[in-house]
Parts: sequence; C-alpha cells; structure tokens
Amino acid sequence: MKARPYIISETNWHHVKQTEYSVAILPWGATEAHNFHLAYGTDSYQCDYIAAESASIAWDKGVKVAVLPTIPFGVQTTQMDIPFCINMNPSTQMLVLSDIVHSLEQQGVKKLLILNGHGGNNFRQMIREIQVDSDVFLCTLNWYNVLNPNGYFDEPGDHAGELETSVMMYIQPELVAPLMQAGNGKENKFRISAFREGWAWAPRIWTEATNDTGVGNPAKSSAHKGEKFANAVISKIAEFLVELDATPVDKMYQK
Ligand SMILES: [Zn+2]
Repeated sequence: MKARPYIISETNWHHVKQTEYSVAILPWGATEAHNFHLAYGTDSYQCDYIAAESASIAWDKGVKVAVLPTIPFGVQTTQMDIPFCINMNPSTQMLVLSDIVHSLEQQGVKKLLILNGHGGNNFRQMIREIQVDSDVFLCTLNWYNVLNPNGYFDEPGDHAGELETSVMMYIQPELVAPLMQAGNGKENKFRISAFREGWAWAPRIWTEATNDTGVGNPAKSSAHKGEKFANAVISKIAEFLVELDATPVDKMYQK
C-alpha cells in the first residue's frame, strides 16, 4: 500500500515531527441502518474515503493536510428505536469538537475542515459557538452537497438511495448486499404541506417516514455512477483544500 503521510492514524511521530501541517480534516460519520443492503458504517466509510482521497490530491499539490480519524457516531435522536443506531447528541458532539479544536490550537494547526457525511449532523451552529474562543479557522461541508447530483444519477435519493448505494458500490463493494435484497426506499411524506414543501422543518421519525430505513430507490445504482460522482466531489474538495491552505486566516475576504 502506498504510504499515506496525510492520514494521521497511519503516520508516525518521526514523520509528524518534521511536517508543518496547516490544515486538518475531521471526517464525521454515523452508525445507522441504511435500507436492507448497505452497511451501518456507510456514512463513515464514505467520509473516510472522500477525506483521504481529497487529501491525497491536495498533498501532492503541496498542501500539508492531516486527516484525523473519522468520528463514527452521528445524531440519531429520531432513530432510537432501530437497533444499533447509536446516537451522539449535538451537545456531546459539541464537546468532542471543542476538545479536538483545543488540541489542534495548542499544536499550531491553523485550519480545520469538518467533513460531514450524515444528514442528522449539523456543525454550523457549533462552529459559530466555538469560533468565538478559538484561533483555529473552522469550516464544514457535507460531501454529498458539494455537487448537484442530478447529472450523475437518475434519482439520487437521500438515504441509502441511488447516490449512496452507487458510491458504496465503488468504494466498498463487498459491503453492498445484492440489490434484490433492498427495499424501494419509498418515503412516507408528512401530512402537512409546509413540511413537504420544505419551508417548515421538523426532524423525521425514521420508522414513520420510511418502510425499510431507506429514503430513495437504490434500484438504478451502479459502481460506475458512484465512481464518477465520488471522483468529481473529491477533485472539488481537493481544489478547496489548496485554496484554504493558500489563504491566510486574516485574508479570507475580497476587499
Ligand atoms: Zn448514509
């Protein structure tokens, strides 16, 4: 296997000691049911992969980027009745994130990107709160929102649908069960139109809103679609890392 000096859990002190890392990435996934055909670790595997491959490209372009270990637990407060959907509350995530930011700050890392892979996670408000007391520049992205998926998929779906299934077929095919085993991912929509239209929001009770824990039909998934989409997302994030690295924290705005 090619050495990956930008993956902190694979590197060593000998290497770290002589590298001035400027950007850290914290991938944040989840442990949850993904229809009948995808693994519970899907969000974490995807985050792991997207972070590592984006970092690899950026590293080759001279960015001293460090990918931290993926946090495997997301917010699952509306899935507590589904076995092994392990919930980490937003307030707990906030503490975990604060500790990580504090560590990086002591160690001179200037920027942290939280690379999110789970719809129930939302780091924006946490960043607003932590940033007040930290010199580490904090930012976040959801990898699945980096590109409009419509050109890549017939029906992307939103949880264990065509997008996620295709990406898993590409990055972890052995963890994708035969699609004949999958449910059709039909979502039971809210009765109230404001929720259906999306301008009012309430979290979905998963066992009410879904029939097989999936939202989105995986039937037309393919490794080829997953490869095209994942690689496009990865190169876009890599470009972002290059720009993030090159832009000093006190020169973020066009003036
Ligand atoms: Zn997922």
